[in-house]
Amino acid sequence: MNIKSRLEENENLELIKIIIFGLFLVASIIITHFELFSHNIIVIINLILYLIVAFEIFIDTIHHIIKLDFLNEDFLMSIASIGAFVIGDMSEAIGIMFFFILGEFIEDKANDNSKEQIKNILDLRPDFAWKKTSESFDKVDPATLQINDIIMIKKKKKIPVDGIIVEGNSYIDNSMLTGESKPVFVDVNAEVLSGSVNINSVIYLKVTKKYEDSTASRILDIIDNSTKQKSSQETFISKFAKVYTPVVIALALIIAIVPSIITKDFHTWIYRGISFLVVSCPCAILLSVPLTFYSGVGILSKNKVLVKGSIFIEKLSRIKNVFFDKTGTLTKGEFKIINISTNEIAEDELLKLFAYAEYNSTHPIALLIKNKYQGKINESDIINCEQVAGLGVVTNVVIDGVNKKIIAGNAKMMGDSKIDIDFAESTNTVVYLALNGKYMGKIEIGDIVKEDSINAVSELKELGFNINMLTGDNKQTAESVAKQLGIDNVYSQLLPEDKLEIIKGCKEGAIFVGDGINDAPGLIASEIGMSMGELGNDYAINSSDVIIMNDKLSRIPLAVKFSRKIINIAIQNIVFSILVKILIMLLIGVGIGSMWIAVFGDVGVMIITIFNSLRVLLLKDK
Ligand code: ADP
Ligand code: MG
Repeated sequence: MNIKSRLEENENLELIKIIIFGLFLVASIIITHFELFSHNIIVIINLILYLIVAFEIFIDTIHHIIKLDFLNEDFLMSIASIGAFVIGDMSEAIGIMFFFILGEFIEDKANDNSKEQIKNILDLRPDFAWKKTSESFDKVDPATLQINDIIMIKKKKKIPVDGIIVEGNSYIDNSMLTGESKPVFVDVNAEVLSGSVNINSVIYLKVTKKYEDSTASRILDIIDNSTKQKSSQETFISKFAKVYTPVVIALALIIAIVPSIITKDFHTWIYRGISFLVVSCPCAILLSVPLTFYSGVGILSKNKVLVKGSIFIEKLSRIKNVFFDKTGTLTKGEFKIINISTNEIAEDELLKLFAYAEYNSTHPIALLIKNKYQGKINESDIINCEQVAGLGVVTNVVIDGVNKKIIAGNAKMMGDSKIDIDFAESTNTVVYLALNGKYMGKIEIGDIVKEDSINAVSELKELGFNINMLTGDNKQTAESVAKQLGIDNVYSQLLPEDKLEIIKGCKEGAIFVGDGINDAPGLIASEIGMSMGELGNDYAINSSDVIIMNDKLSRIPLAVKFSRKIINIAIQNIVFSILVKILIMLLIGVGIGSMWIAVFGDVGVMIITIFNSLRVLLLKDK
């Protein structure tokens, strides 16, 4: 029998048990209420029914008492129900236990349901991989794959580990990772990520990351670990419960003992003490609040927003300052060359110098230039290359047998190196180049804003956000982009450390959104560091708190809206439980409430709050 059907069988047994216990409760009420037998027989029947129903909880309670860690709900319920039985309210005693078990069952179901949903969302990893051996391909556990192993991916199969294509080409469906439904064509040398699906023909990969370091595993790890960084609501309730339980037991004892001695009406006051104990059980809050956040992490990841802990749901719901990095975040980072102008050399020559200078840089500008230059590059001529964040690159290259220094970067970089340039006022990005201190020419580059940046910005404004743009680029470009998007606060010509200062200066906390390229300072200084569309980038995944799995800025207002709703639901649960419980305590105090109302105050409230929590899983994108 496989594990799944075994689990299902257990579930069915559990359900049958609950139905039988429910029948026991009904039987107890009938025989007690209608006095169907003599008193002694009624007591014996009730005792038997009670012991059967309460058996498991008693065993658990005894285990906890032995471990001296017993101030929990099981203990509360055990003393309450034993108390009820002893004072002769036998059906109530069975009722307390029955509803407690029913509540736990529903809680388990709700948790499973929420886990199941999250698992379906993240069913990213295949169970096996086809690994190349000397003769053929062996079916192996993906966890055993080593870097540089060659694996075969059949069509319509999930890719088990990150790798580079060494043979074949195909279309890849990344929708499980990014939600992007348009397949991407990949060919030899393309990098593919685990969790994507190979659509139409067999490809062969060289493994570049072990299973546990591959994208799919890392996403699952983040979700698994998200329960560790708790929201303040969760931390509060777990601290609260530690103090609360002993206090409640003490109060119940006082209610049961003091008025009893004064009025000599032991039954009434012990009954009220027990009812008080039952209604004061904190289960509803203890269970529903974490479930709310857990479901929240799940629904956000379903919508391609990975949060590293429920604390970030809380922060997303609260913080109202957002700082966007410009290039690659608000804009596509897909530059186009608009104009090239040279100083005393041919355009080809200038382009060649740029290509050498940028050879080792991964900046979007560098990628564009290398792409534009079609000639050959002699790697061994490049002696060293230094990327100066926010400014440009400095590269030493051997040209005609002589070691020369090329500086390529923005006007500020040229100014810092005291190089005279032909400065251009432009709303485009302009990069200049100097060879051994002499200005050689410039390339004007245009970038386009991402289509959904405009909507994202206006939605965030509607949500009450103060929106800022940070960039190392020149003032004109920055302002032109800001204008297209409707961003009011623009900071340009910044070095990474300037970005850090600005974010730190924001006292009410800030969300920083970057594209994962030289963004470390922003990601670290902000309360929420967000990176976009950088699933394959270890660095971006490690240093951010929230990862937008696709490239869509519109996920940010969505994440904010969802987070606010999730927090609302958590708070509804807390407030509702406390109010109902206080109300019932008062009723019991003045003698109106019965044990049954107390049971409702415990289990009924818990079931209501659990269902309320599950509403989180129904949150939809518009
Ligand atoms: P942003 O803050 O918009 O993300 P960066 O900090 O990455 O931009 O870069 C800021 C500016 O520094 C660029 O607009 C460009 O002028 C210059 N720059 C950075 N890296 C390079 C490079 N490799 N080559 C040329 N210019 C560069
Ligand atoms: Mg950048």
